[in-house]
Amino acid sequence: MKCPVCGAVYRPLSPPSSTCRRCKTDLSDLIRLHDQAIWHHRQALSLFSQGRHSEAVAYNNNAIALHYSNANFHALAGKLWALQGEFKKAISEWQQALKLDPQNDVASNCLQMIQLMS
Ligand SMILES: [Zn+2]
Repeated sequence: MKCPVCGAVYRPLSPPSSTCRRCKTDLSDLIRLHDQAIWHHRQALSLFSQGRHSEAVAYNNNAIALHYSNANFHALAGKLWALQGEFKKAISEWQQALKLDPQNDVASNCLQMIQLMS
């Protein structure tokens, strides 16, 4: 997560602090949104593993709406689209995930698999 004011990467410090270490902006609202997004994403992952795909889509969409720039959210969105046969949308989500995080394993593995299939 990055500070929207100065662009510094936010890292939880000890003792915990909700201000940016560089510009001292109060990031507590942002951190709360990020935590909520992670919660929605975890729900989505657990529903996904139970085969409850349409519910997983809803939770994962919430996660993306709350916090767009997490590569894992887009990687999961791609998987969910692929399961519905929406490969174009799946590919664009995985590409988005790699744009946010070039090291994202899920997205790069899925894209490779799709390329082998086609
Ligand atoms: Zn800052």
